[in-house]
Amino acid sequence: MNIDPSIRKLLDNETTIHEAQIRALFQTLDRKFGLRGASVPIRFGYDEALLGSYTPASAHEKESFYFSLLFIGYAVKKPLSKEDRLDLYKHEYAHYMQYNMKIPAQYNWQSGKHGSAWKYCCSLVGAAPTPYYKIGESLLKHDYDKALKNPIHDKTVQIRDTYRREQAYQSTRHSEIKFQVNDVVAHPKFGEGIVEEVIQLPNSVRLHIRFPDNEVRKIDQKWLLRSKHK
Ligand SMILES: [Zn+2]
Repeated sequence: MNIDPSIRKLLDNETTIHEAQIRALFQTLDRKFGLRGASVPIRFGYDEALLGSYTPASAHEKESFYFSLLFIGYAVKKPLSKEDRLDLYKHEYAHYMQYNMKIPAQYNWQSGKHGSAWKYCCSLVGAAPTPYYKIGESLLKHDYDKALKNPIHDKTVQIRDTYRREQAYQSTRHSEIKFQVNDVVAHPKFGEGIVEEVIQLPNSVRLHIRFPDNEVRKIDQKWLLRSKHK
């Protein structure tokens, strides 16, 4: 998407106020939970598919929060409501808590970024316990007990903060060469075959495989990985 340069300028100028609001909120939460989320660097950007994210410190990444101005900005066509904006900040703070707080054992039953530990943190800060973004969600009354007991099924709406990462991960996974010439592979439909050629494409890997019927078929390696045949 092309952002109108004048809108972009307005959005850039807004970052100071967003940052002040986020830090003020995080400071309040920090005091309540004895944490230091308000001192974590906050980045702003123009992501179209990602509303926000929290990246914990790791070997290859610095700790940070990220928020997309295309969602939190005031100058965009459809700005988030004040409540939904706050909910997004709390959503990310709950991710921060997940990594920086001791989670009681009974809330560790469901793994995953948006698993029970995260939902437990949501219940503490009053964030909507769903990874999906829906307008007005923040105004609903959430039944945390229920949310903590059930896995999330709703996959119909835009996910707040893992969407892009998962896409990127899938595409690198699919483009990494996993087979070599002469490997024997098993295809669910064509049976066992021998890899004769491996071709690296921008987002995938194509294999030329000779099957028992002596036909050479061109098959994307992802089909072999997905069916766990190797
Ligand atoms: Zn999330």
